[in-house]
Amino acid sequence: MQQIEALFEATLAELLSYQPGVDLSELRTAYEVAKEAHSGQQRKTGEPFMLHPVETTRIIVDLLRKAADSKILQAALLHDTVEDKEEMTVAEIERRFGSEVATLVDGVTKISDLPFRSPENTQVETYRKMLLSMAKDIRVILVKLADRLHNMRTLEALPEHKRIRIAKETRDIYAPIAHRLGIAQIKWELEDLAFKHLDPENYRKLVRAISEKRTVREKAIEEVKEPIKRQLELQGIDAEIYGRPKHLWSILQKMQRLEAPFEEIFDLLGIRILTSSRADCYIVLGIVHDMFTPVADRLRDYIASPKSNMYQSLHTTVTDAKGERMVEIQIRTREMHRISEIGIAAHYSYKEGQTGPDREIHEKLGEFIVQGATEWQDESGDPGDFMDFLRTSLFQDEIFVFTPRGGLKRLPRGSTPVDFAFAIHSDVGFRTVGAKVDGAIVPLRYQLKSGQVVEVITSPHSNPSENWLGYVRSSRAKAKIRRYLAQERVEESVKLGREMLGRELKRQRKAIPKDKELEDVSLSFGLADVPLLFAKIGEGDISVQSVFSRIYPETKDQNKKVKSALDRIKNLAQRQVKGIHIGEIDGLLIRIAQCCNPIPGDKVIGLITKGRGISVHRIDCPNTFADRIDPERRIEVDWDVDREQRFPIRLVVIGGDRRGLLVDVAAVINRLGTDTTHAEMSLMGDGSVRGEFVVSVKNIKHLGKIVQAIKRINGVKRVDRAESIGPLEGE
Ligand code: MN
Repeated sequence: MQQIEALFEATLAELLSYQPGVDLSELRTAYEVAKEAHSGQQRKTGEPFMLHPVETTRIIVDLLRKAADSKILQAALLHDTVEDKEEMTVAEIERRFGSEVATLVDGVTKISDLPFRSPENTQVETYRKMLLSMAKDIRVILVKLADRLHNMRTLEALPEHKRIRIAKETRDIYAPIAHRLGIAQIKWELEDLAFKHLDPENYRKLVRAISEKRTVREKAIEEVKEPIKRQLELQGIDAEIYGRPKHLWSILQKMQRLEAPFEEIFDLLGIRILTSSRADCYIVLGIVHDMFTPVADRLRDYIASPKSNMYQSLHTTVTDAKGERMVEIQIRTREMHRISEIGIAAHYSYKEGQTGPDREIHEKLGEFIVQGATEWQDESGDPGDFMDFLRTSLFQDEIFVFTPRGGLKRLPRGSTPVDFAFAIHSDVGFRTVGAKVDGAIVPLRYQLKSGQVVEVITSPHSNPSENWLGYVRSSRAKAKIRRYLAQERVEESVKLGREMLGRELKRQRKAIPKDKELEDVSLSFGLADVPLLFAKIGEGDISVQSVFSRIYPETKDQNKKVKSALDRIKNLAQRQVKGIHIGEIDGLLIRIAQCCNPIPGDKVIGLITKGRGISVHRIDCPNTFADRIDPERRIEVDWDVDREQRFPIRLVVIGGDRRGLLVDVAAVINRLGTDTTHAEMSLMGDGSVRGEFVVSVKNIKHLGKIVQAIKRINGVKRVDRAESIGPLEGE
């Protein structure tokens, strides 16, 4: 604890060095209150918890220096008290430290797990809350970034699954926020720390590779640096010149993006020149280009047109004296350099009595986070969409393009004329049919470049296309198009559903119900209104039959029976007996009824059976009589037979007791071109024999020939076609 006390005093001393004579009493009170609230708590590292808020405060003092006001530092000291201590509330902080500090602490406090919400939803709510608080007061995010930075520096103490989760969140959310705010200093460190935990193997490899290469690299840098330095001195220009450090994560990303080996990326030398005035930057650029050959197309003037995160610098790339290596050179003033390191923190200044958002800061930040998060408040978007918005709006680099009248539009890199149209106005976006860039017609998927003048061509009858989603970049355009398409889909479903129900009513010869009735039916499905009911029918969520039977309940049972039987038939429709053609229905499971064994030429009828497809009966089969079968289940069928097809049939032959009769019958059947699949003889009580033969026949004519032939056999008294063929072999 003494160590922490000492650290706190050192932090106050540092603050005094930037702001001599500043009143420290409020900070000391905040420290005591926080210490009390966290008493007995330990960090996973084993140190007293209080170390964390003090370190967080120190990071902010380092960052803001002169601009560090008492409120943000109090908030940093108190930032974890509400989350960790039940007796400490935002109201209590407001009572003791005022509303500003309370708002800041509240802004960084996690939303606690809410019942009935997924963890993902809670997480999204927390981000949203943080971004919205940030829109009101930028200091919220500074505290949050400092908090996260210290947690990342001490991440080793946590178990692996937590480390991975926190490192991912840092890489995906906090580092990009730092980047957006131009706080490069924190961004680099967060990225490298996240990299270390997410990809330890590559991290270690890079660290080793860099230390091996360091000397060679430093020597190469000297060879470029020294002549420039001498020349600047000669010309009397006040400037410092450095070799530029490279960050591990950015090296890895560059390797992956350019698919280049480590050496190539690391060998790309970087030099930075800091001057005391803006004019000197251009003079230095001239000197450098005079000494070395500039690489074409690599000059960037971010002084004249700063990046959206306020970054200002001149960038150029030259080849070294031997013409062997490329050297990237950044030229900027010391003030610009400080801004490049700490971004918004350099512009940030707390003014007494200032309420509401700082306009200037908001303008400099653009619409990215602040506007986006505020807009998002009104949307009932799902967590995935919000995360998508966050990632794209935080990560994307941007381009600047112009309207024909010279209006400036800032868009994510890769944006198309469609993005541009939506950036102007939703109505323009919805009506876009084409675009001109610098006066020439381009396709809608054309990727815009900075500085181009874009003109959108609209037509009052045009509507957004689903294809657009394939190439638009801005989350604004994406969201608008998605919402439009969803709306359109609903409208189409409503139309389709209305039509389907109308057709069913007509088919069943029923009147179209009154609006009131339809409303009741909708409600009975738990739907708010009739269009929603139509939409559900159209989308196939609710069957038209179930709606029909709620409108006309008296027809319900019969209807349901037929329907479910048909549904099951359709499900069973894998095996099809050839030879039967059923009305208009194809692909159904059809079987020949074994009670009556129809063969082609017999008059037949189909019966829809429960779960067994359609069985085909002779029309005179007792099983098909109307009093036994629901007329709804009868279905017309026709024969539709191949030449070679055979149908089994059972013949009963009665004859005198004679040796060899069975063999004679079989021989006759065989001679007529068919097979006997089953034969048996039994002795009857009156001394006659009874033979049963199952034979396969083509049709009823074929059967007649066989019967006549058998009748002519000596000893045969009669031949009958049996009602049933009984159990067939193999069945
Ligand atoms: Mn914390």
